[in-house]
Amino acid sequence: MDGQVSPKAEIADPAARIASLLATQKAAWAADVTPSHAIRDDRLARLDRMVDAWQERFAVAISEDFGNRPAVVTTLTDIVPVRAAIRHARKQLKRWMRSRRVSLAWTGKPASAVILRQPLGVVGIVAPWNYPLNLMLSPLVGALAAGNRAMLKPSELTPAFSEVLAKAIAETFSEDEVVVVTGGPEVATAFTSAPFDHLIFTGSTAVGRKVAEAAAKNLTPVTLELGGKSPAILDASVQFDKAVPRLVWGKLLNSGQTCVAPDYALVPRERIADFVAALKEEVARQYPGLPANADYTSIISPRHFSRLTRLVEEARDRGAEVVELAGSHDGERRVFSPVALIGASDETAVMSEEIFGPILPIVPYDTLDEAIAYINQRDRPLALYWFGEDKAAKERVLTGTIAGGVTINDTILHLAQDDLPFGGVGASGYGAYHGEAGFLALSKEKPVLKQSAISGVKFLYPPYGRMAQWMLKLLGRFG
Ligand code: NAD
Repeated sequence: MDGQVSPKAEIADPAARIASLLATQKAAWAADVTPSHAIRDDRLARLDRMVDAWQERFAVAISEDFGNRPAVVTTLTDIVPVRAAIRHARKQLKRWMRSRRVSLAWTGKPASAVILRQPLGVVGIVAPWNYPLNLMLSPLVGALAAGNRAMLKPSELTPAFSEVLAKAIAETFSEDEVVVVTGGPEVATAFTSAPFDHLIFTGSTAVGRKVAEAAAKNLTPVTLELGGKSPAILDASVQFDKAVPRLVWGKLLNSGQTCVAPDYALVPRERIADFVAALKEEVARQYPGLPANADYTSIISPRHFSRLTRLVEEARDRGAEVVELAGSHDGERRVFSPVALIGASDETAVMSEEIFGPILPIVPYDTLDEAIAYINQRDRPLALYWFGEDKAAKERVLTGTIAGGVTINDTILHLAQDDLPFGGVGASGYGAYHGEAGFLALSKEKPVLKQSAISGVKFLYPPYGRMAQWMLKLLGRFG
């Protein structure tokens, strides 16, 4: 296989290096605009073999980047979902690629029409650090299935992983099929300013705005997979023994460094004390002996660890009650033990920014309408969770709020289904992928009309005489 990006060349002039790689991929695309099923399937099969062969090295590198991230977490959240997505795509690919016959209005007959599904060309994929393999390769599955070529830009916060990924991809694909470009914000800016045929960006809302702006200059369409504050509503009908284990699992997976983690919990005011007691019990059950628990993921960097500390301190200073749900923190190993906050005001950073860590603010409510209004007054969330038994209340929440995706009586799981489109809405992003949604996001649906030997359109040709007038009357009435 061809060699990959030389780090030296990147440092020298990232924009020129990216432009040259993009030109190489575009030329290769032009030589085979719509690759066959066999070619796409082979690319997906190679990707699957790559993930299988490199999985331990990926897990070790990701753990090194985090300080500690259990191999089980990486297997569960990065390796298994990507391999499932590949299997799903390979099974469905023939069906997804098929052209669709479309029936025409009588005015169009006897012509016929089809919609062809074609690749867009070269797709740029930018991923964050929190699930670095999954959020890079899941979009790639859609890109390859749809017949595209792809350039990948991982996060500078996962340097060990990025190096392993670049090696794995270079061993598996030629540079004109899939290539990895590594580097910091300067490289990221050059990357997202390049005239790709589509960009899939996963990251923060703030950077997403910049990416959308840069892409607009090239009229490059973008899928923005962003973040935000995803609420969990605990309904008055909730049973804590069922709900709290599932909420704690979703909140503390990867130590809260999850885009769809429940950010805060809306809880009936009179049940807050019971809720906090149930939280404490469950944290002790899932993560005994914190901070010395190897199943608990470290915070990605000292900067992110200090930010979480500051979020708690500021909330305390502004009158919130801070409840330590387990042991103390371990700054050296960046173990941030889970904390609940009661009564953090709207002005605090913890209530206005996405938390992205193991801090759970508890927001009391008195009526369901109040809880729904609380959500609707804020940016549209990436995910929403509802726990309870009351079906009517559940319907009110489902129809009364808008969110990127919802899991009822659990957390995170809507994201793990290949047939459910995954994506945000409003400030949590636009566009969607996974399964056929990912295939379609990276395809052009091209309508093609095939005229027949006989056609009534000629009666509308100039010079416009009585026949044209009669035809227009007919069209006006029945067309
Ligand atoms: P980030 O926005 O800081 O970085 C994401 C990527 O953008 C990185 O690869 C980075 O190098 C690149 N980047 C940085 N500055 C850039 C610029 N000016 N122009 C172009 N690219 C630039 O996000 P992060 O801290 O890596 O990840 C955390 C955020 O990602 C959270 O907000 C989280 O909710 C969100 N997220 C969303 C999803 C989702 O699927 N919707 C999944 C995971 C994370």
